[in-house]
Amino acid sequence: MTILSSNDAAFNTGIDVLIVGGGGCGLTAALSVDLTGSSVMVLEKDSSALGTTSMSTGLIPGAGSRFQKELNIKDSPEAFFDDIKMKTQGQTDLEIAAHLANQSALTVEWLVDSCNVPLSLVSTFDYPGHSNKRMHGSPNRTGSELMGALHDTIALRDIPVVTEANVINLFVDEYDVVKGARVYRKDSGVEDISCKSLILACCGFGGNKKMLEEYIPEIVDADFFGHPGNKGDAVKWGTELNAAIGDIHSYQGHGGLAYGNGVPILWAHIMEGGFQVNSNGERFSNEAKGYSEQAKEILNQPNNFAWSIYDKRCHDVMKEFDDYHDALKANCVLEASNIQDLLRVTKLPKSLERTIDEVKDLTLGIKEDIFCRDFTGKPVLTPPYFAVKVSPALFHTQGGLIVDSNGQVKKSNGRLFPNLFAGGGAARGISGPSSWGYLAGNGLLTATSFGRLAGIKASSIINNI
Ligand SMILES: Cc1cc2nc3c(=O)[nH]c(=O)nc-3n(C[C@H](O)[C@H](O)[C@H](O)COP(=O)(O)OP(=O)(O)OC[C@H]3O[C@@H](n4cnc5c(N)ncnc54)[C@H](O)[C@@H]3O)c2cc1C
Repeated sequence: MTILSSNDAAFNTGIDVLIVGGGGCGLTAALSVDLTGSSVMVLEKDSSALGTTSMSTGLIPGAGSRFQKELNIKDSPEAFFDDIKMKTQGQTDLEIAAHLANQSALTVEWLVDSCNVPLSLVSTFDYPGHSNKRMHGSPNRTGSELMGALHDTIALRDIPVVTEANVINLFVDEYDVVKGARVYRKDSGVEDISCKSLILACCGFGGNKKMLEEYIPEIVDADFFGHPGNKGDAVKWGTELNAAIGDIHSYQGHGGLAYGNGVPILWAHIMEGGFQVNSNGERFSNEAKGYSEQAKEILNQPNNFAWSIYDKRCHDVMKEFDDYHDALKANCVLEASNIQDLLRVTKLPKSLERTIDEVKDLTLGIKEDIFCRDFTGKPVLTPPYFAVKVSPALFHTQGGLIVDSNGQVKKSNGRLFPNLFAGGGAARGISGPSSWGYLAGNGLLTATSFGRLAGIKASSIINNI
């Protein structure tokens, strides 16, 4: 993966704004550019432009959105910012975090109003680390619905999304101006396309084992459950261009991939009072801290797996999610009429009985949790019980190119590249230096907000390039 001199290019076609990658960031950026009237093209290496975004739950935080107001939920960008600050222990770019918190509701409403994405507020349960209900999702709460809606609007606006177009080189001149990209196309071979601005929307390096071994060895043994085509090209180009790169060890993990089935078991069951045990039938962490850091906790347990245990009330809340129905269809969810039955179906040792008793005491406030989780405020779990065996997963990486508030990429000396932008997994996220700083929804927050903002700015500068 290299940067080439613009003198070596043989451009045969050109566009105002070129976008590398057709996931959530790439498509929102394309719509944003198109709405300004500039020409735009998306280059996507896969045969369909879906990315990690289509594998996701598709939930996007929007603090102070009109959808919250309709349900009388009082929220604010300031409260969201405080949550990000708390989750990352202040170890992120706080200016960018405040900016994205401010932009979050605008992005959600823009997706609905300008991009025809049918989003509504998830009002049934709280997400870990969020002080308010502020997640917005598609009707079945899936990333594939989100991507489907974006694609429909892209088609309606006649925006070219070129698939099987792997961007292999960027052309850059002596003033660090990006002049275009070299694309390898399965049918026609190599093609050079010129542009006036370029947006990197090609996500992180979750699909690159070598980079994971180098930057995030702690998660290499987990299942990678993101898009395998994300090979770290943005970081590689950025490194060669001497761009500023931040939080390279940061990632979104997940502590609940149905064992051997690759279906995510979403965290609602934990937030509603469920818990996890290891193969000894014992709890081992504060599960409610977040699902991201739970991946590493499970990796530290004997045999690298855990069981999620919950009851019918939690089970019913989970039914809001398409993923959960997939888990049910795949027979990942075991039902047990009482504790003895639970021991039988899970084959866990009798110590699980003691753990369930302990959780009951914690829920009633009779005892304090050694892992500092507050179980109070939710009803005591009652039979029938439900159980899913889960393995830890890596969803996507969170480190990347450092950008300003418009998604414009910074050089290592702090100055801006004149016409290079990045968003989503290609840019440094707002998740701090590791896995514990990931606050639910901040993957798509950075993908869609930086997509929208970078699109506007990339388009606005084309006459100066
Ligand atoms: C199971 C799961 C659930 C999740 N749920 C949520 C959620 O509910 N809310 C949330 O905020 N986040 C969630 N996330 C995280 C979220 O999906 C990501 O943060 C987000 O999708 C990143 O978007 P992106 O556009 O940067 O990357 P992607 O959607 O991965 O798109 C990148 C695209 O770039 C293409 N590409 C890569 N290199 C090149 C190249 N050289 N040339 C051309 N194309 C290239 C890839 O093929 C890919 O299509 C979830 C993740 C997973 C795995």
